Amino acid sequence: MKDLFSLEGKVSVVTGGNGGIGKGIADGLAMKGSAVVVAARDLKKTTEAVEDLKQRFGVKATGLALDVANHESIKKGIQQVLDEYGRIDALVNNAGVNIRKKPQLYAPEEWDIILDTNLKGAFLCCQAVYPAMKAQGKGKIINTGSMTSLLGLGGGLPYGCSKMGILSMTYSLALAWARDNIYVNCILPGWIDTALTVQARRDFPGLSDFVEDRTPQGRWGKPEDFMGAAAFLASDASDFVTGEYLRVDGGFAQHGNMVSFK
Ligand code: NDP
Repeated sequence: MKDLFSLEGKVSVVTGGNGGIGKGIADGLAMKGSAVVVAARDLKKTTEAVEDLKQRFGVKATGLALDVANHESIKKGIQQVLDEYGRIDALVNNAGVNIRKKPQLYAPEEWDIILDTNLKGAFLCCQAVYPAMKAQGKGKIINTGSMTSLLGLGGGLPYGCSKMGILSMTYSLALAWARDNIYVNCILPGWIDTALTVQARRDFPGLSDFVEDRTPQGRWGKPEDFMGAAAFLASDASDFVTGEYLRVDGGFAQHGNMVSFK
């Protein structure tokens, strides 16, 4: 019987796939047999991630210098993937940045950096892959939201707006492209131990304890926690799932009070 979870023969593009959650997602896709294109800015990190994918999973993998905040870079990068592989089965919009401060202190340029990267960049990547996915007759788009797709964040307003926006984009694209057989879903990570949150732990003493207390599983998430969720959403196993979000948060969002689990 056909393995619904297999990604053999598929081609996946993961923005920000050279580290953190994106690398966990890339690992999950490669684990199920997908060729993976790692698309990010830092070429050294990207090369290392690509070598790791090839060695550990035996898949074809390619590094792509791509800045999601630059439309030309997106169009050129996606065309490069199509020239090399001829198809794109899954797009993972994972690249993201944050600048943490009080709302009254943001400069307009800081708003632009965050929204251009996290939201506009993801949308432009969706637009860029659409013609190929439509022509193929199928495609899977996985966006990366956040707990702030559901909850407020006093110390990261533009980031929260970008992540609520990405959920709205997920819903709208799922409707608009359903008849093209393009599935659009969103993963919402809880607090995950990555480069992005290292600074947060420096800025907010006590954050680590707060996360461990509030997360019912009692720990920070790890990049490898995303392997299964991404593989599922990229595979035929999720063929009646679209416009959905999947929390990968150790139960964080369900926990309505501050009772310690320790
Ligand atoms: P990291 O900082 O570890 O990774 C961010 C990734 O995005 C890097 O690979 C970086 O690569 C890439 N990136 C950033 N800007 C751009 C750009 N302009 N163009 C292309 N790639 C870019 O963070 P995480 O792994 O933690 O974050 C991944 C995603 O998960 C983000 O969308 C984040 O908002 C989200 N998230 C993270 C949470 C957490 O607790 N860690 C919680 C909720 C959501 P490079 O610098 O080489 O371009």
